[in-house]
Amino acid sequence: MALKMPKARLAEPSGVVTTVNADSYDKATRPGTLLCIDNRCDARLKHVRRHLQGHSKVQAHFARNPNAVHARDCKFDVAATVTRISDRSKRFEPDRDPIDVGPDGTAVFRLNIVFEALANLGRTTVADDAGDRDRESVETIAGDRTLTPYLRRARAVLALLARLGDSDELRSAIRISYGGAVLPWQDFFYGPGELGRLYDRLRVLDGRNKPIHPVAVVVRPKNVLNTVRDAVVNCKSEKLRVESGGDLRIVPRLACRPPALAQSLVDLRPYLVCTIPRPRRGDLNLRPAPGATAFADVYMDVVSRNQFALWPH
Ligand SMILES: [Zn+2]
Repeated sequence: MALKMPKARLAEPSGVVTTVNADSYDKATRPGTLLCIDNRCDARLKHVRRHLQGHSKVQAHFARNPNAVHARDCKFDVAATVTRISDRSKRFEPDRDPIDVGPDGTAVFRLNIVFEALANLGRTTVADDAGDRDRESVETIAGDRTLTPYLRRARAVLALLARLGDSDELRSAIRISYGGAVLPWQDFFYGPGELGRLYDRLRVLDGRNKPIHPVAVVVRPKNVLNTVRDAVVNCKSEKLRVESGGDLRIVPRLACRPPALAQSLVDLRPYLVCTIPRPRRGDLNLRPAPGATAFADVYMDVVSRNQFALWPH
């Protein structure tokens, strides 16, 4: 599976260059040369119509022509982008780089370091809630500043994941590790419509008494519920049929702290969120009877803008 691009530039025979969408593009009525959407890049693309691959639907997209190569600074050149993200910065302490390039040249995205930074950020913002606003807000800014290089790096990876979607090219360029072990891609990444698979994964971890690891999951924020401590963004739920014969409605809820983060999330567009899910106690053991529906809330903490990216697919 090659890299799928939802948009392309079309150089028409008249010389006019326009942007075309994979969903609506028709080669017969729009002659010309398809080029990479990145202005700095002239890689030739081909159009792939929406089709079935086995049982799964493949959305219409543009893909690179077999011999085409992306420009070195093109944001769709996966290897170059990963190299750029992982280029070491002097601000990182030794062994604390969230992206580490291994001996085989594959970049490793070290989630434990990212989540350590997020946890510290969470603590500083929680302290902000406790009162004594002047002093605490200074602390928050200071904490934020120290952590920014770590989180920016994480944010760049998340944006890359969002831009490329689930592609083999991405998997061969970057590996995800947590607590020293490599996380299999399918355990880490949950695309649109995969909340059921995420729920199953959480149940497996719970059954084995294993701690929950971070995941990247596509959610669609719906509305905000304000509580004393944070703002909870309710996201679109998904229905899952379970063995007991009933239905489970899985509801992702983003607990945003500071609450202002919620404002940038609510507009029904899909977001890729990187977080550690917190299922509500008991919600992993629901057994709705046939015809009945039970609700399973999956809370996810969001303490930084660097934890989410728009999902453009
Ligand atoms: Zn390109």
